[in-house]
Amino acid sequence: MDYQPWFSGSILSIMKNLIIFTDLDGTLLDYDTYSFEKALPALQLIREKHIPLVICSSKTRIEIEHYRKKLGNSHPFISENGGGIFIPKNYFNLRVESLEFREEQEDTYTVIRLGARYDDLRKAMEQLRSEGFNVRGFGDMTVKEISDVSGLSIAEAAMAKERDFDEPFFFDGENHELPRLFEAVKAKGLKHTQGRFLHILGNSDKGRAAAVLIDLYKKELGEITTLAIGDSLNDVPMLEKVDCPVIVRKHDGEHDERISIANLVKEDGTGPEGWARAVLRFIGETKN
Ligand SMILES: [Mg+2]
Repeated sequence: MDYQPWFSGSILSIMKNLIIFTDLDGTLLDYDTYSFEKALPALQLIREKHIPLVICSSKTRIEIEHYRKKLGNSHPFISENGGGIFIPKNYFNLRVESLEFREEQEDTYTVIRLGARYDDLRKAMEQLRSEGFNVRGFGDMTVKEISDVSGLSIAEAAMAKERDFDEPFFFDGENHELPRLFEAVKAKGLKHTQGRFLHILGNSDKGRAAAVLIDLYKKELGEITTLAIGDSLNDVPMLEKVDCPVIVRKHDGEHDERISIANLVKEDGTGPEGWARAVLRFIGETKN
């Protein structure tokens, strides 16, 4: 295990107001079963301590709402790899407004949109196909097909298809062709990332979205300490924005070796098991 002490005494003494950002797939949720059961003791502890847990996932709004309900979570969340930030009404005392971002008031949330328009991503998929790339997005697939490739139930696969800002896709080709595909994505002014699936998205990522919330928490609470837990490349921008970045082992039992960030902690344990270990150790060590 790559154990590193997280805090020196001096940092420990200034730690305040812990905020936890978390990925879902393969991190808080088991890769195969999408269960967070192994993380329950840690989830219970952060609930008792009223520590905000901000979900930051490639999943859609409706999928995340489903898990928030299961988790009894009422904190802000980030959908579709940073495409949308959803802040429950009256969550922050201060008014959430920024000239920099498009913001919409809904009944239950203030929504900040950072992501591309889904229609534009679908057009880009068409263009990639016409350029000879054999790509297929969730928008090209039936709910049954999404269920088959993801292991999601039919009901959950239907929620995964309700997309606003990001398109998960499959590429039927050789690995050595991937750089050319990614160049073609870039030539359209778009980006790609990788979690469980490949994704095409606009100028948004988990880190940009997390930074917006970190800023709001700071304005609200003053000094804060931020922890983020992930497992894949699409978590890197989020991990780079926090004080304490953590990755858990992927379903193959390995840490993603492509992730290299200063201060990165590679927690022992796969998915939710590693997640619980990280949270319990962190809170235990910091006496939050
Ligand atoms: Mg993940």
